[in-house]
Amino acid sequence: MSRLLEVEGLAKHYPVKKGVVLQKTVGAVRAVDGVSFHLDRGETLALVGESGCGKSTTARLVLRLIEPSAGRLRFDGQDVTDVTGSAMRLLRRRMQIVFQDPYASLNPRMTVGDAIAEPMVVHGLGNAASRRAKVRELLSLVGLQPFHAERYPHEFSGGQRQRIGIARALSVEPDLVVCDEPVSALDVSIQAQVVNLMKDLQQRLGLSYLFIAHDLAVVKHMADRIAVMYLGAIMETGPKGALFATPRHPYTRALLAAIPHPDPARRGRVTPLGGDVPSPMAVPPGCRFHTRCPFAQERCRAEVPALRLLGEGQQVACHFSESLPDAGLDYTGGLT
Ligand code: SF4
Ligand code: MG
Repeated sequence: MSRLLEVEGLAKHYPVKKGVVLQKTVGAVRAVDGVSFHLDRGETLALVGESGCGKSTTARLVLRLIEPSAGRLRFDGQDVTDVTGSAMRLLRRRMQIVFQDPYASLNPRMTVGDAIAEPMVVHGLGNAASRRAKVRELLSLVGLQPFHAERYPHEFSGGQRQRIGIARALSVEPDLVVCDEPVSALDVSIQAQVVNLMKDLQQRLGLSYLFIAHDLAVVKHMADRIAVMYLGAIMETGPKGALFATPRHPYTRALLAAIPHPDPARRGRVTPLGGDVPSPMAVPPGCRFHTRCPFAQERCRAEVPALRLLGEGQQVACHFSESLPDAGLDYTGGLT
């Protein structure tokens, strides 16, 4: 597999200012605080973590919708951190997004056909007739009838609207689709259909997905690799199988242990996490997870743990991951 996306030390810090006239910078919100990962062609990398951990901001940085405070982005072998003008427009075509909320992401006054064709218009692709033909093709690709092009978003269910959102993203033939919680606003019964559609489209079109999610059941179905984020940084990353079978970071273990297991005897023997996620304005020193980690020691408060490779592509940012007690849990049992 060839590398499509490479992210290195990406950060987004928002200055916090005080004072009405002479605004003085008094601190920073470290929304994304130095993340590195890669995505190969045809692959799905899931970014998971609780809300506010920086996964959506990471997605917006990758899409170049916001400017990074630090770090580099490489796309298809080129450094695209600072591209502008026509190179930027080409990049925008090659990276598309599917939003969480299919209700909010479609203009209610636009027909579905016009909504799907809009990115092609923006990027100057085709003419009116070829775009109409492409819309019909896209509608059947996502499992809708071509005549639906004349209808309006309110005439569709949530799942159908998300199919429309996917067709719209695919209209300009992107290489990368960033999926920001694409099924979390849908009924559980509909989620599987949309996830299966996305997997099927990935195979057919060779798409790469950066898949943002907090629902590990969906991630288990969708991802090839997973990166677990906490407070703006990656705590653990690796192939899905390894991460679910042998999670090596206390935070990953806590996330997995929180999934309800059908067999009560095998349910969470990992102590649930105490306390709240600290503010991204006051990221704890050393290991940023130490205020909630049941295994924290003196070193954790002083020294930032680097992501270390522990075999099978699994990387863990914990000083003590090799010596953590085996929690004796079936981490995957709650997920089928
Ligand atoms: Fe816990 Fe220390 Fe590991 Fe951080 S480095 S996860 S505080 S044991
Ligand atoms: Mg979000």
